[in-house]
Amino acid sequence: MTDCLFCRIASGEIPTTFVAQNDRAVAFDDIHPAAPTHVLVIPRAHCADVAALGARLDDLAAVVQLAATVAEQTGVATTGWRLVFNTGSDAGQSVFHAHAHVVGGRRLSPNAG
Ligand code: 5GP
Ligand code: ZN
Repeated sequence: MTDCLFCRIASGEIPTTFVAQNDRAVAFDDIHPAAPTHVLVIPRAHCADVAALGARLDDLAAVVQLAATVAEQTGVATTGWRLVFNTGSDAGQSVFHAHAHVVGGRRLSPNAG
């Protein structure tokens, strides 16, 4: 989708440094990091949210596997990390191209709220 910010990042139209990538997903630093490690992992192919991503198992697996790679690369695999898919308005989803937040590097709150 040409009007989708994350499609434009994934395609390279908007120059972005990928911290990791595989054949179906790319990872890049969040522009407003909420933790020492805060990386977004997105499927290269457009879908709106994690509910839609769940119907595309190859893309979903690629996103989760790349998130684990990012956790290893950034050093949080040993200290702990969180994978978050904000979905819809109450969760604060602001970009409607499915994306996982890899968050870690500090003690995270124990609940989801
Ligand atoms: P959401 O709130 O939809 O779950 O997360 C969207 C995330 O994308 C936010 O954390 C926001 O900081 C990040 N973001 C928005 N625009 C850009 C951008 O142009 N580049 C990068 N790297 N991150 C962005
Ligand atoms: Zn998109």
